[in-house]
Amino acid sequence: MSTANDIGGTGKTGGTAAPWRAVVLTIFPDMFPGVLGQSLVGRALADGVWTLDAIDIRDFAFDRHRSVDDVPFGGGPGMVMKPEIVDAALAAAIAKAPANAPVLYLSPRGPRFDQERARALAASPGVVLLCGRFEGVDQRVLDKREVAELSLGDFVLSGGEPAAHCVLDACVRLLPGVLGAAESLGEESFEDGLLEYPQYTRPASWDGRDVPSVLTSGHHANVKAWRRAQAEKITAERRPDLWAKRQAQTQH
Ligand code: SAH
Repeated sequence: MSTANDIGGTGKTGGTAAPWRAVVLTIFPDMFPGVLGQSLVGRALADGVWTLDAIDIRDFAFDRHRSVDDVPFGGGPGMVMKPEIVDAALAAAIAKAPANAPVLYLSPRGPRFDQERARALAASPGVVLLCGRFEGVDQRVLDKREVAELSLGDFVLSGGEPAAHCVLDACVRLLPGVLGAAESLGEESFEDGLLEYPQYTRPASWDGRDVPSVLTSGHHANVKAWRRAQAEKITAERRPDLWAKRQAQTQH
């Protein structure tokens, strides 16, 4: 029985460091690497900076139809993923993942994923991500395995896979060597509690619109001050929650 689909990490090695290891549990293993096989993150996968195993939860089903779900106790619509099948799949995933890798269930009930969590996950040796389908997973297996939940936001997806793509993309681009210029991390949205300033490229005048003159002045200190002021203004206007948090932090 093939329980896992070795998708990445067979290419060149990404230096001397051990690769960051992601193990995803899904009933749609063909969705991986999917978007994660392209661009920066895809190149890092091919280069062995990180590895991705997609474990097919259906491989742990034992009936003829390979069913992984059943009707909810207490009634109601939809189906629930069966605890014994998810438990066996989780055991296989945990065995494949590095020791101490967090085990997370993508779920709208979890704390919201953000840049801080992306940084923490990228700093861990890897992650195990459980993607739900149907109405979700039987609570007992989450309790038994002490699986933490993680949400992408206050909306409902049809499955955890697109959420896993987002979480993995955000983590992998933080791994050393994945982004070209080291600076491109430091000034990004959220890295210092601010949203990013507006960006412009050539031509300096387009469609009757000129780029702000400070950006073509060649005066680096003024450019820096302007960008900071814009980042603060945009954050205060658009995200009073982030702004308040930052104000509180900078006062201590
Ligand atoms: N009945 C559930 C929703 C199930 S949606 C509820 O009301 O909370 C099916 C699966 O999609 C979930 O098991 C979860 O893995 C995934 N999912 C849906 N919305 C998500 C979100 N905002 N963040 C992360 N995963 C989500």
